[in-house]
Amino acid sequence: MRKTELKINLSNLIYNIEVIKRFTKADIQAVVKANSYGLSASEVAKTINDYVESFSVITLDEAIELRKHTDKPILLLQGVHEIDDYQIVQELCFDFVVHSNWQLENITNFNLEESRLWLKINTGMNRLGLDLVDFQTVLQNIEKIKLKEIVLMSHLAASSIKNDKQTKEQIEAFNDITNNINYRKSLANSGAIFNFPESHNDIVRPGIAIYGGKYNEFGTKNVSSLSTEIISIRPIKAGTKVGYDGSWVAKDDCFIGSIPIGYADGLPYFKEPITVIIKGKEFKTAGKANMDLLMINLGDDDTIEIGDSVQIWDFDSDLSKLSEEFNTITYNLLANISGRVSKNYLE
Ligand SMILES: *Cc1c(COP(=O)(O)O)cnc(C)c1O
Repeated sequence: MRKTELKINLSNLIYNIEVIKRFTKADIQAVVKANSYGLSASEVAKTINDYVESFSVITLDEAIELRKHTDKPILLLQGVHEIDDYQIVQELCFDFVVHSNWQLENITNFNLEESRLWLKINTGMNRLGLDLVDFQTVLQNIEKIKLKEIVLMSHLAASSIKNDKQTKEQIEAFNDITNNINYRKSLANSGAIFNFPESHNDIVRPGIAIYGGKYNEFGTKNVSSLSTEIISIRPIKAGTKVGYDGSWVAKDDCFIGSIPIGYADGLPYFKEPITVIIKGKEFKTAGKANMDLLMINLGDDDTIEIGDSVQIWDFDSDLSKLSEEFNTITYNLLANISGRVSKNYLE
């Protein structure tokens, strides 16, 4: 079997939620969209179900699948994509966001008494959400609908930056709009949990912090490890080209190892060398990323053998740092891992 695998340490998920709880008294909604940022929403939900107040996803299919594993509220973060979706929202008691007027058309044809409506306000990100001019009218309209609860929410554009001015303005705008309204409120994603305590309100919505992909400096642990093994080694002479387009040329005589992982496994495409770890030592890739393979410059190290394990990242890796090498962000490293990579779960 191809030994390219993502290991997921499930107890680190609980550890990270405990870390988050040290920073906030708010209820926790675990964002498990995009298959829990690549780690498997069902496994994640089963593990942390007792530690959170609710879950959130993007698509109806994700929510339907997740319903098999939890009785807790499941929020559709973009709400319905067509009005008929409310039929399934009703049947499976999903919570849903309303970010635009059109999502309210004919909504009264459905019985949504078991659902929470999360009214999304645009506070400056200008992505989704009602603008202030429409907010009061829409609020009055939805108060006529029979619902389990109304929650007021918005999303922050730059909460990963400590003391960020735009974030402070967004928090202020959210407070101004919602201050005198007696519904529960939700604004903070992972970055805001650590950097902006004044944004926490009633329910916080961490994603990446649960998976330890970022904010390790606040105590969270990386949950995943991506590894494969050496399947080929050859000695080459100085001056020899390696890989596509002959773009990489050996400076000295060296060994080249090949590993069965590439951009079709979800690694971001790269042209410049990235670092991998073999037997605790760092090595650089040779040549551009391939679809199914990478080549490694093993230098003059003749102790590396076929079958040796190669870590792209490990449980003690800082994915924020690694993502810079890939010229991307840590969310992208995790969320892109493809179905071809086998997933193994450690208790
Ligand atoms: C993805 C998402 C989150 C979680 O963001 P993180 O930065 O991963 O914590 C929270 N709220 C909304 C609306 C989202 O789309």
